Amino acid sequence: MTVDQTRHSLDGRHRPMFIGGAWVEAASGQTMETRNPATGEIIATVPRGGKRDIERAVAAARNAFDGPWSRFKPHERQKLLLKIADLFERHWEEICVSDTTDMGLPIVRARGNANRVLGMLRYYAGMATAIHGQSIQNSLAGDIVSYTRKEPVGVVGAIIPWNAPTAASVWKIGPALATGCTVVLKPSEEAPLTPLLIAELMADAGVPDGVVNIVTGTGPEAGAPLAEHMGVDKIVFTGSTATGQSIVRASAGNLKRVSLELGGKSPVIVCADADLERAVPVAAMSVFANSGQICIAGSRLFVARSIHDEFVARLAAYAGALRIGNGIDPNTEIGPLISPRQLDRVQGYLRAGTEEGARLVAGGNRLSDGALAAGNFVAPTVFAGVSDIMRIAREEIFGPVISALSFDTLDEVVRRANDTPYGLAAGVFTRDLATAHQLSRRLHAGSVWVNTYHAIDPAVPFGGYKMSGYGREGGAEHLDEYLNTKGVFIRID
Ligand code: ADP
Repeated sequence: MTVDQTRHSLDGRHRPMFIGGAWVEAASGQTMETRNPATGEIIATVPRGGKRDIERAVAAARNAFDGPWSRFKPHERQKLLLKIADLFERHWEEICVSDTTDMGLPIVRARGNANRVLGMLRYYAGMATAIHGQSIQNSLAGDIVSYTRKEPVGVVGAIIPWNAPTAASVWKIGPALATGCTVVLKPSEEAPLTPLLIAELMADAGVPDGVVNIVTGTGPEAGAPLAEHMGVDKIVFTGSTATGQSIVRASAGNLKRVSLELGGKSPVIVCADADLERAVPVAAMSVFANSGQICIAGSRLFVARSIHDEFVARLAAYAGALRIGNGIDPNTEIGPLISPRQLDRVQGYLRAGTEEGARLVAGGNRLSDGALAAGNFVAPTVFAGVSDIMRIAREEIFGPVISALSFDTLDEVVRRANDTPYGLAAGVFTRDLATAHQLSRRLHAGSVWVNTYHAIDPAVPFGGYKMSGYGREGGAEHLDEYLNTKGVFIRID
C-alpha cells in the first residue's frame, strides 16, 4: 500500500519506508518502534519489512538499473551528486537532529561531521567522471585492438549499523550513484530514521525512482533475505564480525560480491617521547566519542612504562570531566548507548574487568541520576593494570571503556598490538619520525594514525585487515568495489 508522500518531520509518529520512489508499508502490515536512547521515549514507528519487501525493493532497483538510470551519463550523475551535497548542506541541522534523537550522538559531534559527509558526496561527484578503462597494446592474437571498460556491478544491497547512520548511508549510496549502480539499503533496526530522511533528500534532488530504496526491518527478517537474494549483485556491509560471517555464507547462492567493514580492538601506542598534552585527549576521545560505539575505537591503550602512571592519571581526570547527557544539549560531550541491550552488554564488561583483576581508575558505572535515569548512560571508564588475556583487552566492547596496558620495548608492543583477530585501525603517539614510520609499517591494520586519530578522508581508502573485513571505502579503490572490469578485443586486420 502506498501512502502519501510526506516530509519526514521529527514530530511524525510513523515513517513509511521508500521503495521504487514511493513511501510504502511492509507487505505484512507490521511496524516496529524506534526509541530515543537518551530518554527511552518512542520517537517513531517504521515498517517492519521482511522478505516480500526485499523482493519488491530489489525488483525496483533492477528496473531502475536497466531503465532510465542506465542512460544517465557520468556528468549527469556528477551533477546529481553535487545537487545532493547542496541539499544535504541546506538540511544539515535536520540530519543532525535526526541522528541525535535516534541514536544519541551529541549534536555538536553530529554538526562537526558536516565536512566529512559533504566532502564524501562531492568526492564521489568528482569520481563519477573519472571512471575509465585502459587501452592495452597487445599483439599475441593478430591485429587486435583491446581495451577494458569499467561497468557498474548492478543492484547493491547495503546493510548498515546504528552507530553512524548518516556517514554509513552516504558511504554506501555515494559510490553507487557515482558508478551507476542502484541500491537497496537496510538500516539498523535501532536507528532507521536518518536513512529515510536521506532517501527523501536524494529523491528531492532528482534521484530517479528505484535507484535508492530503503527497507526498514530487523537483521534476520530483512537483512538476511537481502544478503541471500539471487538478484543482488553485491553486498556492502558494516557491522559486527559475526554478522559479516553470516553475510558471506548467505552470499554464496549467487556468488555475489561482498565488502565488509567489521569490528575492531584497535591498539593505541603512546611512546615515552609523546606530547602528552595532545595524546591524552585524543586517546580518550578515540574511544569515548560516540560513547565508544565506534568500530575504530582505540580501546587497547599501550603506554610506555616510564610515563604510564602519569598518563593514566591524566586520562582518568579527562574522563571524569566529560559532560554526559542528552546529546541534543549543545553542552553534551558524551551521549547514551544505543539501547538497554547494549547497556547490559557494556555493564557485563565492566564487571568482567573488575573480576579479572583490572584496576578501575575512572567511571565503571551506569549513570542514572535525575534526567539520566531513563536513558542508557555509562560513565567514561578507564581500567589500568590490564593484561593481554583479559576479556576487556580482547573483545570489542562497543562502549566507553579504555583498557590501559604498559610496555617496555617497541618490538614487544608491536607483537602484542598485533596479537588480535582484528585489524581495523591503530594509533601511535611519538615525536620520533623513525618510530612513527616503523610502527606504521609493522602494525597490522587498515588505518594507522600518528599523533592523531579518527581522521577519515573520502580520498583515502579505509577498511580492515584480518577479521575486520575486506574491501575499502574511500579513494579510487572504493569505486572499484562497485565496478566490473570487462576486456574487449576488436580484430581490425
Ligand atoms: P551491531 O548491531 O552491533 O552494529 P550487527 O552486525 O548485529 O551489528 O548489525 C549491523 C546490521 O546488520 C544491522 O542493520 C542489522 O539489522 C543487520 N543484521 C543483523 N543480522 C543480520 C543477518 N543475519 N543478515 C543480514 N543482516 C543482519
